Amino acid sequence: LSRRTALALAASVAATGAQAQSPVVNPLRLSGRLQQGGHAVGRINGRGAVFVDGAFVGPTSPRGVFVVGFDRDEPATRLVRVESDRGVLQQVVTVAPSTFVEQRVDGLPPSTVTPTDPRDLVKIAQDTAKKQAAFKSREDADWFQGGFLWPLEKFRVSSQWGNRRILNGEPRTPHYGIDLAAPKGASIKAPAPGRVVLADPDMHFEGGLVLLDHGQGLISMYLHMDSIDVRAGEIAWRGTKLGEVGMKGRATGPHLCWRLKWRDRNCDPSLWVAA
Ligand SMILES: [Zn+2]
Repeated sequence: LSRRTALALAASVAATGAQAQSPVVNPLRLSGRLQQGGHAVGRINGRGAVFVDGAFVGPTSPRGVFVVGFDRDEPATRLVRVESDRGVLQQVVTVAPSTFVEQRVDGLPPSTVTPTDPRDLVKIAQDTAKKQAAFKSREDADWFQGGFLWPLEKFRVSSQWGNRRILNGEPRTPHYGIDLAAPKGASIKAPAPGRVVLADPDMHFEGGLVLLDHGQGLISMYLHMDSIDVRAGEIAWRGTKLGEVGMKGRATGPHLCWRLKWRDRNCDPSLWVAA
């Protein structure tokens, strides 16, 4: 089933669902980490169309699995609704609050905190365009369903996900990654199957950067990589080596900044790892 066919199918399901006055709404069972930065995973029988607070977000996988991600500052409730030719299921999700700490990072290269060099600004714009194109990926799969492994065998968490940040003395956007400190050259492995949608060895802020779509636009990111072993377009299966830890881009030491997005939401990838 091509992505285009899937989207057309979901759009038609969504259109008929919107027109039908469905008298029966059944509860939808969701699992996952229902908290800020977390996610919900659900399943229906067969293909359906997923809505969050009434807005169509996309189709389920062919076997009816879907994911909804919650941002760092997600509101306390979300209405998740799935429509299919078998009916409508919905659930109000209570998104538990998470707490975040403040973190100061000094000694970063100034060009990676407040870039002013015109060549840097051109490069940053090019990088942004590449990332925006990659983030449009919507792999018609549910590879996230088995959860994630840690992408490194040995590491120390050097910065928690969601920290409020002060970089070289300047207040900045929150840290949408979890930093895993490890020696330069340590192997980074795919935590779950994913389509490689970006593999670039030299981004201005991120250094070596790989993006994996685990299905439906749930995209994990691997920053500051020293070297990259995968190419855009291929599938990295769980445990496939993506490349090696480095400190390229905005970094003061070797580490993997591990990030996760679901569409426009910033999520905590570590919440996908079994406790
Ligand atoms: Zn980071």
